[in-house]
Amino acid sequence: MAGADRLKRLLALKHTDDEALTKARRIHRTAIATSPHVKSANFEAIAPADLARLFALYDAEFFGGLIEAMLREDRAFPIGFRLSSRMTNAGGKTSRTRSRAPGSLARYEIAISTLLLFQTFSDIDRPVEVVGLICVDRLEALQRVFEHELLHLAEFLATDVSNCKGPLFQTLARSIFGHKAVVHNLVTPREIAATNHAIRIGDQVAFDFDGQTHVGRVNRITQRATVLVEDPTGPLFSNGGRYKTFYIPLPMLRKPG
Ligand SMILES: [Zn+2]
Repeated sequence: MAGADRLKRLLALKHTDDEALTKARRIHRTAIATSPHVKSANFEAIAPADLARLFALYDAEFFGGLIEAMLREDRAFPIGFRLSSRMTNAGGKTSRTRSRAPGSLARYEIAISTLLLFQTFSDIDRPVEVVGLICVDRLEALQRVFEHELLHLAEFLATDVSNCKGPLFQTLARSIFGHKAVVHNLVTPREIAATNHAIRIGDQVAFDFDGQTHVGRVNRITQRATVLVEDPTGPLFSNGGRYKTFYIPLPMLRKPG
């Protein structure tokens, strides 16, 4: 199947919003009924095998098996699935790699941020929107992120490149899944830091480390805060100051008193 044929078949996949919703709900029910980890809509555990299962369900419901067929044709089936506890902004990431050796095959991987999924539908209570659609539970949020990544995969397979800001991606996203956008507002570590710990980037903070109290400035927030503490023995930074870098769990930070 040439790239143009693949693209034609992808563009022919059209579902109304209601059809897409019905299909996605069926997958939601099946995922809970068949996974040893995803036992409820706000599941507490998930494994890469669950992503492989979601892939099969989605390919059957929404693509009529087209994605697996394209992958098999390219000898790229099965693809890799990964759960990341370090992705602090993106909900998911689809990558295509090919070694430099001539004639080598492309490999694909879909990674999903469990960090964002597990922080969402936890203690911060606000409406959650992924790809422009309201999600009422963690599994729905995962499905919307996964759908977005499947579109990246399909676009890669048909055109060798993929860009969710491009018109082709957005056409496919609307017609196959009824997506209204390509962004998410899942709860990020920055939001947790600001809401639960009243800590923002740039704040002066104090903390105890090795029996000493240090005062510094918050430079970055992931699962921990990166705090720069002025120290004449520390490395030179671009602003001309010397700092030591500490990675401190958020509950250990306080306002300097
Ligand atoms: Zn994207």
